[in-house]
Amino acid sequence: MDNNDKLTGLYLFDDFISVASKQLGNADAASLYVLVSLDFSKFKYINRVYSYSAGDKLIVDLARAITDEKECVVACRPYSDHIIGLFCFEKGEWETKKERLKKLQEDFCKSHKSQYPKTSVHLNIGVYIVEDITEPVTSIIDKANIARRSVKGNYSVPYAVYTQKLQILKEAESRLIPIFEKAIENDEILVYMQPKISVKKGGIRGAEALTRLIDEDGKIVPPDIFIPVLENSGKVLDLDWYVMKYVFKKIKEWQDEGRSIVPVSINLSKLHFYHDSLVVDIIREFEQYGISTDYVEFEVTESVFFEEADLIIDKIEKLRQYGFKISVDDFGAGYSSLNLIGILPVDIIKLDKGFIKNSLNNRKGMEIIKGLIRILNEIEMDIVCEGIETKDEERIVYEFGCDSMQGFLYDKPIPIDNFEDKYILRAVI
Ligand code: C2E
Ligand code: MG
Ligand code: MG
Repeated sequence: MDNNDKLTGLYLFDDFISVASKQLGNADAASLYVLVSLDFSKFKYINRVYSYSAGDKLIVDLARAITDEKECVVACRPYSDHIIGLFCFEKGEWETKKERLKKLQEDFCKSHKSQYPKTSVHLNIGVYIVEDITEPVTSIIDKANIARRSVKGNYSVPYAVYTQKLQILKEAESRLIPIFEKAIENDEILVYMQPKISVKKGGIRGAEALTRLIDEDGKIVPPDIFIPVLENSGKVLDLDWYVMKYVFKKIKEWQDEGRSIVPVSINLSKLHFYHDSLVVDIIREFEQYGISTDYVEFEVTESVFFEEADLIIDKIEKLRQYGFKISVDDFGAGYSSLNLIGILPVDIIKLDKGFIKNSLNNRKGMEIIKGLIRILNEIEMDIVCEGIETKDEERIVYEFGCDSMQGFLYDKPIPIDNFEDKYILRAVI
């Protein structure tokens, strides 16, 4: 093996396979092998913003960090910023040693933070624990890669270990992407609407556009299944653009027919914010419809504000300056901070349904929701409570000071025809 990777000095892929196979072939019963697969979040962005040599340096640093680990027996760089390493531990040792992956993530990111201030350096780390040492190394690598891809862009977990569930997600990917592509091409994405209700007014005050796919058997695939798949592959961007155009067109139709229009919110995946032209693109599209910005709201999930603050704040501000409303979706689902509310340039906070449900069943939780709603009212932020399913829940949060509700108590997300029938067509301005 006289050729090594020129940039990192690591083994080339084929050599890695043969060294790793030999290691596993000679493994003794006391050893546990673990394959770790790593790459960077937003590596293209780093290359683009900081130059290719900065990207190269990161790769070299990562290669060194891996080979410096004493349990690493062999490593290689299959391509670009992707590095894999085979580790050998004593059986029973892994449970304590796995903390080191977390430390690797933290140390690596911390030590590079100042060099790349415009983006957070973050590793996607996937792990496969080899239980059967006769499993082919290529299959071992595939599984570690599945684990790595499952945490892409997810900053809240330092690494992921391969599980059967991930395999199922991977299978869903190969099944759902062709269905999605066909649906986009044939204009067959279902856009459902769920009303948002004003308790005081006793009627609708807005709606949220939520999508569904239809699989080969004619069954509805819910977003919880296909959104992660589309986010993994970047195709969620196409979905959101589809919904955006669909909503603009609908509002225009309602306007032309002299209907009473309610503002409609569109979910924007975080992936949009990596595109510098996002604001210009949205405005360009919007201006073709001759409708008012009063009818359009964008929902961005809470976690995005934590992970990508620098990247998104400026874009959100521009969208608001133009006249769109922006809401923080699923507030309370992750690591929300009160500090965040004060600095976010947004109009509406949507309290997460899980957060509300968990809070309303105990006294402390109730006080927290109550206090939160009071603070949000004091700083003149609009609030929507999601996932309201019972009259009791409605009454409690209403008494706490929240008037806008969304939930099955009023309606599930429903097909557009039903929605228009029930909420739009009957009311004429
Ligand atoms: P979300 O934006 O937080 O939307 C609200 C979700 O809560 C919807 O789930 C809705 O059906 C559900 N929900 C509303 N009221 C209740 C209730 O009373 N009880 C319960 N248990 N659930 C309730 P859905 O439609 O399954 O969508 C799930 C998520 O998928 C959405 O959460 C949103 O993050 C994402 N999503 C849906 N469509 C799109 C889309 O077109 N683009 C993007 N980027 N994301 C989408
Ligand atoms: Mg939403
Ligand atoms: Mg939500």
